Amino acid sequence: MTELVVGFGSSRGVRAAAVWSALRSAVADLSEIIAFGTIDRRRDEPGLRSVIGAHGAPLHCYPAAELDAVDVPHPSDDVRGYVGTRSVAEAAALLAARDLGGGSLIVPKRRGEQVTVAVAALTPLVISSACTACGGCLRTCPQHALRPAPQRPMIVAARCTSCGECVEICPTDAITLRTEPGSPRTT
Ligand code: SF4
Ligand code: SF4
Repeated sequence: MTELVVGFGSSRGVRAAAVWSALRSAVADLSEIIAFGTIDRRRDEPGLRSVIGAHGAPLHCYPAAELDAVDVPHPSDDVRGYVGTRSVAEAAALLAARDLGGGSLIVPKRRGEQVTVAVAALTPLVISSACTACGGCLRTCPQHALRPAPQRPMIVAARCTSCGECVEICPTDAITLRTEPGSPRTT
């Protein structure tokens, strides 16, 4: 099953109905959501809390400075003027996905009534700090789903078929699949 992380940005006083509407416009199957993210100043916003509490997935909150450091597709200087970061929804989705092992945006920021929503999908595998950057998995992957990166390979989630070959080749057991080898992916 695809595992999704939803980022929310909102104004004060946003209604729960507006949050539900934005959420349903971005995610077809709400059972795929495993976490939410937002800025820490909206941690107790009643409309957000109502929806997130009813869903049941945990909420990850981040300070404005941490959100502002995330490279997002739709940064806004206007938003930074209000809350101190150029992005809330996209950046919170990416940070929460990072904290759960890594992911990439599949639904960029969408605006609703006093609310924005963005969605990230978790990557199909996790590469831990045990990686020594030997490059073996990059050479092995039949889908070219792994790319060189400074500390450990970067995963191109859309290419990975969860075949498990990189897991087998890794000399330090740094790679873990989220799903059984060969499981089909829906994103
Ligand atoms: S699981 Fe298979 S397709 Fe995915 S990164 Fe590893 S080798 Fe490549
Ligand atoms: S094979 Fe393992 S140790 Fe080598 S680069 Fe890939 S993840 Fe890192």
